[in-house]
Amino acid sequence: MQVAVFSAKSYDREFLGAAAKAARHDLTFFEPRLAIETVRLAEGFAAVCAFVNDYLNAEVLERFAEGGTKLLAMRCAGFNNLDLEAAARLGLKVTRVPAYSPHAVAEHAVGLILALNRKIHKAYNRVREGNFALEALLGFDLNGRTVGVVGTGKIGQVVARILQGFGCRVLLYDVYENPACRSLGEYRSLEALLTEADIISLHVPLTPQTHHLINAAAIARMKSGVMLINTSRGALIDTRAVIHALKEQKIGYLGLDVYEEEADLFFEDLSGKVIRDDVFSRLLTFPNVIITGHQAFFTRDALSQIAHVTMESVTAFEQGQPLTYEVTVERVRK
Ligand code: NAD
Repeated sequence: MQVAVFSAKSYDREFLGAAAKAARHDLTFFEPRLAIETVRLAEGFAAVCAFVNDYLNAEVLERFAEGGTKLLAMRCAGFNNLDLEAAARLGLKVTRVPAYSPHAVAEHAVGLILALNRKIHKAYNRVREGNFALEALLGFDLNGRTVGVVGTGKIGQVVARILQGFGCRVLLYDVYENPACRSLGEYRSLEALLTEADIISLHVPLTPQTHHLINAAAIARMKSGVMLINTSRGALIDTRAVIHALKEQKIGYLGLDVYEEEADLFFEDLSGKVIRDDVFSRLLTFPNVIITGHQAFFTRDALSQIAHVTMESVTAFEQGQPLTYEVTVERVRK
């Protein structure tokens, strides 16, 4: 099947290319992000493969329908960037990769915790400059600390298990209790978790209910000096409220892999450009903030799984078989 792949990077060509070859699909890679300005490139392709920061509003989806596109295969888990109601109205099938490697994201979240705590990023630079002083590198033992895991689905569960292994006391919050998590920690209300945790890690999807879940009121409940980790979606956090709390030293550490306005920044080399986003630039000035550019998923294992599952969905669609990983309005509401 002919598939147009948007936001294509070298690693997409490598991993999707290999999976497509095995599944006998014909991929055309487009570097631009999918948006109304670029949607014309999809014309005539029966399937389109998109990623987290492609912009899939009703207007873009209507242009798909006009151009003959019948399948939108998202090569990611989240689909908050997609107008699902419009896709349903237009008869456009949508698939995603609900689970690739929860370990990739969970391990990155724990990596941010360790780096922030033990200041590994600073130590790396110091030692390279012949500075072996330890001042300002002081950390704390994770063992015995209370960690709050917000969202105990596939990724949150792995985070809870890893941190239990570190000897942390794990508090859990979710709208649904995950039976597999009960031995890993204690379920609490969100309010109680925010109040008791030394470290809070977010693993819920971005929905209208979770938008700005961490706002000024939530921060006010937290312990002074709390560590906040977000590897889920940027808009779970009200970034301006978090900046205020960093200035007040209420938040002691912040680790982000995602950012509310990341679509204009992440996945591109902007090292020679001026960053015009003042909120993001302010975040970069804090010594106790580490930001990575949406790389938590970025392991070989995850990429090959993503490519494999995406091509599996294309094959199932081509053969008129049921789409195991279809995203529908009904499934989301369940
Ligand atoms: P999942 O669906 O397995 O788990 C999400 C959990 O959140 C579920 O248990 C669900 O019940 C819970 N939840 C949903 N709405 C809630 C609410 N309003 N309040 C409390 N809990 C709620 O998803 P997952 O695979 O663990 O992924 C979690 C998120 O991680 C994804 O939605 C995605 O945004 C993000 N993610 C980021 C990367 C990255 O590279 N940074 C990669 C993959 C996924």
